[in-house]
Amino acid sequence: MSKFPLPPGSTVGIIGGGQLGRMLALAAARLGFDTAVLDPDPDCTAGRVASKRFTAAYDDPEALKGLADACDVVTFEFENAPADAAESLLALGAEVAPPPIALAVAQDRFEEKTFLNGLGVETTPFEPITSARHIGPALDLLGAPALLKTRRQGYDGKGQTWVETHDDAEAAFRRIGRKPAILEARAEFRRELSIVAARARDGEVAAYPLGENFHEAGILRRTIAPAAASKDVQDHAEGIVRRVLTNLDYIGVMAVELFEMEGGRLLVNEIAPRVHNSGHWTLDGCEVDQFEQHVRAIAGWPLGPTEPIAPVEMVNLIGAEVEEWRKLAGDRSARLWLYGKGEARPGRKMGHVNRLRGKD
Ligand code: AMP
Repeated sequence: MSKFPLPPGSTVGIIGGGQLGRMLALAAARLGFDTAVLDPDPDCTAGRVASKRFTAAYDDPEALKGLADACDVVTFEFENAPADAAESLLALGAEVAPPPIALAVAQDRFEEKTFLNGLGVETTPFEPITSARHIGPALDLLGAPALLKTRRQGYDGKGQTWVETHDDAEAAFRRIGRKPAILEARAEFRRELSIVAARARDGEVAAYPLGENFHEAGILRRTIAPAAASKDVQDHAEGIVRRVLTNLDYIGVMAVELFEMEGGRLLVNEIAPRVHNSGHWTLDGCEVDQFEQHVRAIAGWPLGPTEPIAPVEMVNLIGAEVEEWRKLAGDRSARLWLYGKGEARPGRKMGHVNRLRGKD
């Protein structure tokens, strides 16, 4: 007999102890689950709200064995967790969701875009780069300027640099650390959108309305949701995410970052096989938020409603901005989410504020 749906009292394992893990653990606790977090930092923010912590590298065999034994299902809060670790968990008999293939695809920008194009999903044109010599010919094909991105380990605009001319090829390759990369054509997008959706164990898919995202220095600054978008654009985005989820036989929440081009054409920038910063608005804007939805999906529960109950503006608190907490605590229009992280380093996501629009 299937162990799903997991009853309350079961344990959800989370690989990664950042704010996404913390909000997953809080959602899991609300549904009566215990949680176990694996992270190398003994003081990680998710670990401080979890029932159990494993302090070790993500691929530490002993810790993975401990996690497999302690948990009824194991999930991830970031896509750069080693796909091998996910495979080892499976080999240890653990239930792992989303499937490790989703991590493998999302971890590598070349694999990701090749996979998407193979499904008939449009992305920006790109070329693989393994040496500075490849950049000139790729620039001729794609047009200048083009964006050089490391295949792996890039996030929040890290590992990326614009290439303006052939003369810049050598220096640009050096700027990204001479790592295997892709060169991407510049997308002349009208705006950036994202769609967050979940797929349940029975194959049901539920998508939230699109959010419109505003970035600064490669970091998400603000999301307005639901985005002002026609039904056609929402349907198109839902069609894309449904195709990706179904093809990966995915279980859990996924976010798809999109560029909206002139005329409403959508290109996928990237997929995130996890809950996502651009879905934080659902915490206050929807009956069931993305964190609860993810827990429901991986636990084999029915998905919850994704209709918005209020339009929301989500603003990230980055670095020292979190020191505004006193003022925000007294701001009756601000729903404050603080991640409990120690040092407010520049560029570090420390919290976010949701404001229900039309209510202030
Ligand atoms: P990424 O790390 O791929 O999510 O990129 C971070 C941000 O850089 C995106 O949200 C866009 O604002 C910008 N960006 C990424 N790729 C492109 C592109 N091909 N053309 C123009 N802007 C881009």
